[in-house]
Amino acid sequence: MLRMLIIGPPGCGKGTQADRLSRHLGITGVSTGDVFREHVKNLTPLGRDVKAHLDGGDLVPDGLTNRMVRDRLDQDDVRDGFLLDGYPRNTSQLAELDTMLTAIGQSLDVALQLTADDTELVRRVLQRATLTGRSDDTEDVIRHRLRLYYRETEPVAAMYSARGILLSVDGMGSEDEVFDQLLAALRESFPSAVPD
Ligand code: AMP
Repeated sequence: MLRMLIIGPPGCGKGTQADRLSRHLGITGVSTGDVFREHVKNLTPLGRDVKAHLDGGDLVPDGLTNRMVRDRLDQDDVRDGFLLDGYPRNTSQLAELDTMLTAIGQSLDVALQLTADDTELVRRVLQRATLTGRSDDTEDVIRHRLRLYYRETEPVAAMYSARGILLSVDGMGSEDEVFDQLLAALRESFPSAVPD
């Protein structure tokens, strides 16, 4: 049973790897981006509040994001482990996650980071845009999201690294290669939690 999260720049395949990992490890995956997109699609009040931020590639304000994550982490299916995908995105969300977990007597076991090279990322995201029609997959927006990642989210990885719980894996291989490397890295630290 693991409590973990995954961090990586837009376009690095983080969502796909998070889905595969949570299935493989038998823990619940929670993607903040997916939850927000679902709200936008269903035209909920939260969806209306966050749509412009998603479309512009901006971060949703911390208040809305933290509340949504707190509600999600209150549910039964995450009691025995979870994989957070896309949260925390900045150091104030990191502090908030610490507070949430402490309040329920839990702590994070590991933070995974996928690393990637910018030119390849822009190429991948533009390719994805033709497949998914995601409103935040245009070249200007992807460059903006990358800048935000380096400014806001890299410091999150640095803080987990300082705590000794960061595992970094090169995200530029094929989907299977990256998945295998993630499993290998996890297995080294948590042999009993990672099935073959
Ligand atoms: P993702 O699917 O993780 O790339 O997230 C898509 C979009 O959802 C981001 O560009 C943000 O607009 C929003 N989002 C997802 N997670 C967060 C978060 N932790 N804080 C703020 N905004 C977020």
